[in-house]
Amino acid sequence: MAKKTIEDVQWQGKRALVRVDFNVPMNDAGEITDDTRVRAAIPTITYLSQHGARVILMSHLGRPKGERNEKYSLRPVANHLQELLKGIHVSFADDCIGDTAKEAVGALKDGEVLVLENVRFYAGEEKNDQELAKAFAELGDVFVGDAFGTAHRAHASTAGVAAYLPSVAGFLMEKEVGIMGEALASPKRPFVAIIGGAKVSDKINVIENLLPKVDALLIGGGMANTFLAVQGNDMAKSLVESDALETAKRLLAVAKEHNSRLLLPTDVIAAKAFAADAEYTARKVNELKADEMALDIGPDSIAVFQAEIKAAKTVIWNGPMGVFEMPAFAKGTFAIAEAMVEADATTIVGGGDSVAAVEQAGVADKMTHVSTGGGASLEFLEGKTLPGVAVLEDK
Ligand code: ADP
Ligand code: MG
Repeated sequence: MAKKTIEDVQWQGKRALVRVDFNVPMNDAGEITDDTRVRAAIPTITYLSQHGARVILMSHLGRPKGERNEKYSLRPVANHLQELLKGIHVSFADDCIGDTAKEAVGALKDGEVLVLENVRFYAGEEKNDQELAKAFAELGDVFVGDAFGTAHRAHASTAGVAAYLPSVAGFLMEKEVGIMGEALASPKRPFVAIIGGAKVSDKINVIENLLPKVDALLIGGGMANTFLAVQGNDMAKSLVESDALETAKRLLAVAKEHNSRLLLPTDVIAAKAFAADAEYTARKVNELKADEMALDIGPDSIAVFQAEIKAAKTVIWNGPMGVFEMPAFAKGTFAIAEAMVEADATTIVGGGDSVAAVEQAGVADKMTHVSTGGGASLEFLEGKTLPGVAVLEDK
């Protein structure tokens, strides 16, 4: 990656102000239900600590709407981090700016870690308020951007603060941007992308950006219905976006123009109701009954998609192939995950629901990269420059 990283800085005795993404899901009892994001930040934190930095971590948690709200306190996350970081002292500051934060920073010894309270307790955070950004900057000597999951937002702690401090990438940021950036810029071929999910409108820009780059684009999920409808199939009760028909038509034309192979399902799993216990059967896309809806890709499509994936050298996947939350309609999605595991390829998964599916299938660690950022990875695949990446210094 063309950005400076934490390896380009002499850390001994310096205050590393690190923006991490500790926006973890919590249950009503205030317990962390999935600590993936906390663990994803450990390599950066450990490196900084081992190199003698005083490590100051800032993050948001949930949507406290610019006000202090104990429900969204990062204290439980700091406690959990202490359990994960055996041997490294972790403390917590009850505020993310001002005297409380400054005193806590002042008390840090080299190698110690401090977690600041939720940056979204201040309304200026999401407005990228420059005064707030300066107040953050006073706490550190060098800014480290490691919150890939929030890098698509220009907020005070992700972007604004970088104007006032030397700014470098952490290991998570480097990995996310490096692997996805290389896959897009110079993919090993064949390069296959699989796009799914509910709506075409969510993924237009991704499809548009990927079409000229890939050798094949496989489309499944609810959004495939809209493309299939454009091609003259009667999708019956399936989810079809009437206001995205023109867009789908245009994307099919773009594919033709670039000679890109855009593959749609040839068969689907048809059900009479959007329900886990609905009766279902496999049908060709042009043979749906009037009272049926397509809730997954069918076995013929699975076979074709799997063959494409297994022959590929680079595979990027965003969006499930069906309503994978219901086991009856999860086969297509899991079949994609399985083929990616078997492929001798660089395999990348992005998108909240696709990542959840891969984790459910128990194969997350068999992928080259599972992105920690749903929205951020989507914008990255759209070819956009992420503000939280742009502010980091070039090598
Ligand atoms: P991601 O979070 O991976 O980007 P999306 O949010 O775009 O994925 O889409 C995921 C949602 O799409 C899931 O909730 C899934 O149930 C839904 N979905 C997939 N296929 C269909 C379909 N055929 N009909 C209705 N909904 C679908
Ligand atoms: Mg989603």
